[in-house]
Formats: sequence, structure tokens, C-alpha cells
Amino acid sequence: VLASSPFNMADRLAKAVEQPAEVTAPTVHFASLADLFQAEILDHGAEDAFYVADLGRVYQQFLLWREHLPRVHPFYAVKCNPDPVLLRLLAKLGAGFDCASRAEIEAVLPLTDCTDNIVYANPCKQASHLRYSAAHGVAMMTFDNYDELVKIRRLHPRARLILRVLADDSKSVCQLGMKFGVPPHATASLLRQARELGLDVAGVSFHVGSGCRDAATFRDAVQRAHVVFQEGRALGYDMHVLDIGGGFPGWDGESDVTFIEAATVLRKALDEYFPSDAGVRIIGEPGRFFAAAAFSLAVNVIARREISGGSPAPDAPVEHSYYVNDGVYGSFNCIMFDHAVVTPEVMIRQGTYYPSGRDSHRGSPVLEGSLVSSGTIDSAAADRLRPCKVWGPTCDGIDCINESARLPTLEVGDWLVYHNMGAYTICAASQFNGFQIPRVIYTDSRNVIPYQYLI
Ligand code: PLP
Repeated sequence: VLASSPFNMADRLAKAVEQPAEVTAPTVHFASLADLFQAEILDHGAEDAFYVADLGRVYQQFLLWREHLPRVHPFYAVKCNPDPVLLRLLAKLGAGFDCASRAEIEAVLPLTDCTDNIVYANPCKQASHLRYSAAHGVAMMTFDNYDELVKIRRLHPRARLILRVLADDSKSVCQLGMKFGVPPHATASLLRQARELGLDVAGVSFHVGSGCRDAATFRDAVQRAHVVFQEGRALGYDMHVLDIGGGFPGWDGESDVTFIEAATVLRKALDEYFPSDAGVRIIGEPGRFFAAAAFSLAVNVIARREISGGSPAPDAPVEHSYYVNDGVYGSFNCIMFDHAVVTPEVMIRQGTYYPSGRDSHRGSPVLEGSLVSSGTIDSAAADRLRPCKVWGPTCDGIDCINESARLPTLEVGDWLVYHNMGAYTICAASQFNGFQIPRVIYTDSRNVIPYQYLI
């Protein structure tokens, strides 16, 4: 069923992430999600949970970014999902990288021939990581406090510093301002301290918080950054880098604000405060925007239990708890750390494949009323959906994926799929209780990526 693999990236990837030689080389297919899921489960008898990553969606996001934020060079936030094939594609497309640690810098160094395309965007860095960045010519880095300046002067005196100013992140799902960012009233004095230490400040960064729900926040942050530019220039600094951070949604509907709405507000603010003839290099640190929608996670129902709540009426429909083989200690850590709300769709029920909104439909049967596809349920058959719970595989009671889902009755061995699982999932997954992190199968389902970006 699978299209034959057009290339094999073993060598480059082994170098990129120092994979041990025995790691199987990833291949990229040109098959639809439907074909890949079916082949993996029905033909190859898969039992473990696995991801399918549709790299074509990453490519389409890249084009969208270029269209709506043409002046902003995206530096992908590696923390969001350090998948080596994703990193490599983004590097090929011309993205730079936002790294938070030595390991992230190590992963991207072989992918770029220009260390100017890396920003070490962690305002509080471990000394050995800082030494590593100095030794490897990674000079652009953020800071937001005096002690960090002292450390940088000792370990990386030639760094090009980016002051991270506090942005209003009160409208964002994941707020970062309680941990990082210089409040506007303190930026001038911190710049003076940097001057006294003989350090080079090259620009300003901000982050409006991950999952930003108000586009106006970007405008406000650009304004704040502009003030700090003036302060820096008044001290004689050559301020020439603006880093607008991340915060963009992974897909339309994830947030109250679409990417295009946020980008439109941001673009206008940039044109007003940092016009194209101002000689300012503008970079961004999108993570979720590139990674979220590309990854779908297939999980196997490994066990089932009837929920016996009180003494139900004799004809009341049976409610079930389903146990699947990835949970909150694995990919679904996003429920806790990223405030994610995840929705299961039935994929394979009693050996039959049911197409989802993401699949190209190939004549597979549609189970009436059983499929939650693109958020809609066939209301005429909705009564066939039963309230249920979906649990992860570990022995911990906290390991609950869906406290109250509605699904048709499933059997052990059936499969569910969760879409939009690319951001802040695999990167923070553990192997608690001995459950493996799911492997990833790659495809370009719509065959949209030009060949030169794949070889
Ligand atoms: N840059 C920094 C410094 C971050 O802390 C984060 C996320 O926490 C990002 C970029 C990526 O943000 P997002 O995934 O919302 O684009």
C-alpha cells in the first residue's frame, strides 16, 4: 500500500542527532494517512502506539508564514518538538533555530552552516551550555537579568545579546512572563549595566506566551521593544535584531485568534515601528505553528472495563473505561504541561478502518454516528455514542486522557487516533512504567514538498 520511499536520511540524521548506528533510518512515504494507518495496523499487525507525521503540512505552514510575515525569519523553537526529520526539513526550507540548551544546539548545528541562524533563547543558561555555545560560535542569545550578564562576561564575552522584555501574556494559554522578561521600567538600567560590563547588546526579544488568544498583544509587545531599541541606541549600542518570539496557533480553531489575524496585526506593527529601511533583522521563534498539526497519534485499546457507578437502571447502556497504550506520562503530557484538550476519533473498530477528516477517503465504510470527524457528529445517530473514559496505560490514577468522551462501544484491539499532536508532546514524554515513546512514520500525504527539500 505504501508508496516506495524516495530517499533515506540515515547518514545525515545520524550526524544531526548522534543517533546510534543501529537506529532504523527514517523514510518518508507519499501515502495518505489512511493508507499508512491501515498498512501499519491491518497489514503489519502493529500493536504499539505510533505517530504519523505529515511533513507536507509543515511545508504548507512554512509557505503561510512566508506569505503573511515575509520580513520575519522563522527560527523554529526546537523545544516544541525536536523530531530530527522535522528539524531537517525546516533547515532545508531555510528556517533558523531557537535553542534552549546545549543538546538542542548540538541537534541543529549539523543542519546549518551559519551559526547566525541559531538563537540561544534561554535567559537563564547553565554555565557548561554557555561554554559550549561559545566554543561553537553560537553568539546570539537572550538575557533578562544582571547575574546572567556577569556569567556571560565570564564565559562568552563576545556574545551578541538580546534583551528579553516582558510582554503582556495575560491572554495566553501558557504564560511565560512570571519566569522571564524584564519589566519595561527596568530595561534602561539593565542596558546600562551591560554597557558597564563591556558587553554587546544587539537587540530585543519578547514572547507573548504560548497559545496567544489576542492579536493586539503582539502590537503592544512590538511597541515595548521599540522603546528598548531607543534606550539601547541612546547608550551607543548598534541595535539591529528584533526577535518576536512564538505564540502562534498550530491550526485555525485552536485559539480565538487565527495565524493570519495575528500575523496581520504583527505585520502592521512591524511596518510602523521597524520599517524595512530601518536596518533591523527580524526573527521569530514559532514552535507550535510548525509542529502541532502535522502529527497524528494512533493508540491501541489494550484493555476495557465496565464502569459501575452506583446501581444503574437495568436497561441503562453500559459505560466503559478504555485503556490505551499512550498516556499522560507519555505523549499526553500535553494535557498537563500545555493545557491541551485532546479529542479521540475512532480509527479501527473490529478490524474495519473508519476514515477521519484528515484522511483521503478511499471507499472505506463510514460507521454511522460513531465517528467524530472535524468536530461534528451525525446527530441522527448520536445515540450510538456512549459516554466513556479513556485512560493511559500506567498504574497511576492521574493517567486519564479523556475524563468524559463519547465513543461507540469499542473492543480490545480497536484503535483511536488523536490529531494535532505535534506540539509539546513527544518532547516531554517519559517512559514511566516501562511504556515506550511512540515511534514516528513520515509522509508527505499530498505530495506537496518540492524534491530539493527532501533530499
Ligand atoms: N521561544 C521561547 C523562548 C519559548 O519559551 C517558547 C515556548 O515556550 C517558544 C519560543 C515557542 O512558542 P510557541 O510554541 O508558542 O510558538
